[in-house]
Order: sequence, then C-alpha cells, then structure tokens
Amino acid sequence: MLALQKQDAAAGVALVDVAEPPAPGQGEVLIEVVAAGICGSDLHIDDWAQGYEFLTPFLPVTLGHEFSGRVVAAGPGVHESAVGKRVVVRPSISCGVCIDCREGDPDECLHRRALGLHRPGAFAPRLLAPWNYCLPLPDSLDLELAALVEPLTISQHAVEDGEVKTGDRVLVFGPGTIGQGAAALARLAGAAEIVVVGYGDKERFEVLGRMGFSRLIDLADPGAAQQLEELAGDGFDVVIEAAGANSALASALRLTRVRGKIVAVGIHSRNIDVDVNLLVRKRLQLRGSYRASQAIWEKCIRILAQSPNEFAPMITHRLPLNEAPEGFRLGKQKTASKVILLPGLGAQS
Ligand SMILES: [Zn+2]
Ligand SMILES: [Zn+2]
Repeated sequence: MLALQKQDAAAGVALVDVAEPPAPGQGEVLIEVVAAGICGSDLHIDDWAQGYEFLTPFLPVTLGHEFSGRVVAAGPGVHESAVGKRVVVRPSISCGVCIDCREGDPDECLHRRALGLHRPGAFAPRLLAPWNYCLPLPDSLDLELAALVEPLTISQHAVEDGEVKTGDRVLVFGPGTIGQGAAALARLAGAAEIVVVGYGDKERFEVLGRMGFSRLIDLADPGAAQQLEELAGDGFDVVIEAAGANSALASALRLTRVRGKIVAVGIHSRNIDVDVNLLVRKRLQLRGSYRASQAIWEKCIRILAQSPNEFAPMITHRLPLNEAPEGFRLGKQKTASKVILLPGLGAQS
C-alpha cells in the first residue's frame, strides 16, 4: 500500500510502497483511514527542524497522527462489536509498564510512543492502533471534520490552561489550526473579545473571517503593531501563543494584563530571549500546554458534533494520499489552513 514516510534523518518525506499492516495483535484493531490532517509538526519533520531528533531511531516511519477512520478488524481481547465503529484515535500511546502507568496516571508516562511519529501513522490506507486509544464517534459527526479532533484537543487544552471564562479578553498569536481552534473554543468558553495576530497570513485570516472573527491583526501590515497596542489597552486577560514565533512570546509578556495568563502551546525551533522582569513585575502566569487528556478528547468530540459549522471552515484543502507532497507545499506556504489527506480517495490503496 502507498504511505507517506519520513525515511532519513534529513530534510524530506517520501511516498513509498510499504507492506500491509500485520493482523491486529492483542488489544489492537486495524483501522481503515478516512481522513488524516497534515499537522505543523509534520511540516517541521519534513524540514527536519530542530526538536525532532528523537525520531531518528524510529525511521523509516509512516507519518500522520491526526485522523479518523473505521475499524475493519479486531485482534484478540477486543470485542467483535468494535468492528465497523467510526473512530478517532489518541495517537500518543503510554507504555503500560512504568510506575505512572501502573499507578493509573498514564498521562504522565515518559515512555510514550506515538502513531505517526514512533510507529506507523495514518498517511496510509490502513494502520494498527490499540483499541483502548480509540474513541467512537457519534453518527452525526462527519469523518473529515473528525480529523480536526486531535488539533482541537490541543486548542481546548490551551483554553482550559488559560482558564478562559465569560467576559475575558483573549489574544491568540498564530492564525494556524491551533490558533483558529483556540479562538473558536475561547468563544464557546464565553470570551467577550478575541483578537488573533499573524504575520503575512491573508489566507488564514480569511478562514477566521468565515468563522466569524473580525479582530485580526496582520503584523506584516503597516501600522498593525500600533493597532495591536491600542486594542490591548491595559492588557488581555489571557494570551495564547500558538505561533511558535520568537517575537510572539516576547510581545505576549507586554500585552497581558497584570496577573494575566499566557499559555505557550507553539513549538519553537530555537531558544528565545524575553524580558523576564515583565513576568515578575506583572505577576504573570506563564503556562506550557501540551497533549490533552482523554476527558478533553471526549469534550472536543461533543463540541464538534454539536457545532460543526463553527469549525468546518478550518479545512481548506482535501487531497488524495498520492498528492500529499502538494499538501505539504500548501501548508508551508501558509496558503492553506488544515489540509486533509483522504487515503481512500483515488486508486492507491
Ligand atoms: Zn499534530
Ligand atoms: Zn508508562
């Protein structure tokens, strides 16, 4: 079958022919992939950016960790009623052996292995996954839209870490998928005002416009920085940094109100220099946010099923798997928002 793989510890990804997955083992299911989103981290892995060296011992590996599909076979220990279920899958699999896993706190496991990073992922027609990491979907939830669940869990986690509440003024840096999701989920959490900041992000702002957001600041525009300072006034209650840009976290420290919260969710490709005294004197809370709990996954499935139209504009491109390189190109040029690969489309399966 066709698969998009990272093969070597160098720039590039490759569409290659790989073996079908083996029969599902104990506790596993075989999933037919319906839709798999290209994530910012997939683009970083393609570029072989700093921060992904940990993948080297696992290469070659089929990428793709945000996906939906149907269970087509169940291994020993999985009830046959699993077959036919429409699912999304929590891609980060804990070890089950360490002390945290054994004491019932698998979210703290330090020995995780992720689908699409350490083990075969969803940029292929089929993959194996542990059944207890699958979450069945309501019949009403479209499977293409369901590929947004994984990134939305990251956005929702950031919104919860920022404790966004009714009436809050929220600033989001980064108009990509995580930022778009954070804006929509902050609105659902009751935020009174949401400003999203980008740089040279015309197309992604158009998506945010279709999602109903109008306070969009493109720092590539003349006068935009000044406009942002004016909008900030005494500062935002919560700033969500989803850009992974050096300047964004530095600005966040300035634009947050006294005792406000900054949630860092963007991945940075280099270390940054910030004015720590702002953090101290304004008594700011700087919080890192990463990988959501099962409860947040279930919440995001419910939210997406209840309000699909709030999120539908986030998917801007749908491509068959054999056009994955074009999807990566669109993602890197920032002309696309979420690009969804559809491995069931076209002949290559
Ligand atoms: Zn991702
Ligand atoms: Zn563990």
